[in-house]
Amino acid sequence: MDLAQVLGRVTGVHLDTPRGADVVHSIRVDPSWLERGEPVEVTLPRNLRCAECDGGGCDRCGRAGAVSLWGRDEPPGVVEVTLPRRTADELVREPTVVLRIPERGGLPEPSSGQIRGMLLLRVTASPEPDASVIRLSAVPSRRGPSAPAQPKSQLLLGAALLLLALVLVSYLVSRR
Ligand SMILES: [Zn+2]
Repeated sequence: MDLAQVLGRVTGVHLDTPRGADVVHSIRVDPSWLERGEPVEVTLPRNLRCAECDGGGCDRCGRAGAVSLWGRDEPPGVVEVTLPRRTADELVREPTVVLRIPERGGLPEPSSGQIRGMLLLRVTASPEPDASVIRLSAVPSRRGPSAPAQPKSQLLLGAALLLLALVLVSYLVSRR
């Protein structure tokens, strides 16, 4: 049984409406965003996992396991969703919430007259949230300005430069 069927049974929504392929996308957000039910903007990758086979490959996705949502030259797709509210306790028990967003999935066959597939957005509360998810309510934090965390890439670059300098120094010393 695939994920779409499981979800359909739980929510009682008709999932047999002919449409494009359903897709799955997983994101991680700060737990406080779920506790407040924040509206967020999610930038989607071009290729998303096929919901029917969960990436394993089926007839629906042409054995690819993935579904392309738009062409190579088009800008990335963005969806705006309001996160469902969860208490901290609920998030400890079940940190992942699945949102079903109609008509944001795979495109239907051309001239079929069908609608687009569904986007199943798996939202997981995590201390390491995805940078591709932006909070829409730009309300300044009441906790005051927090020190900006140093991006990991900057640290890596610094370490790489230090290593390079050490190699260069040892090379110059050995030539003497
Ligand atoms: Zn598939």
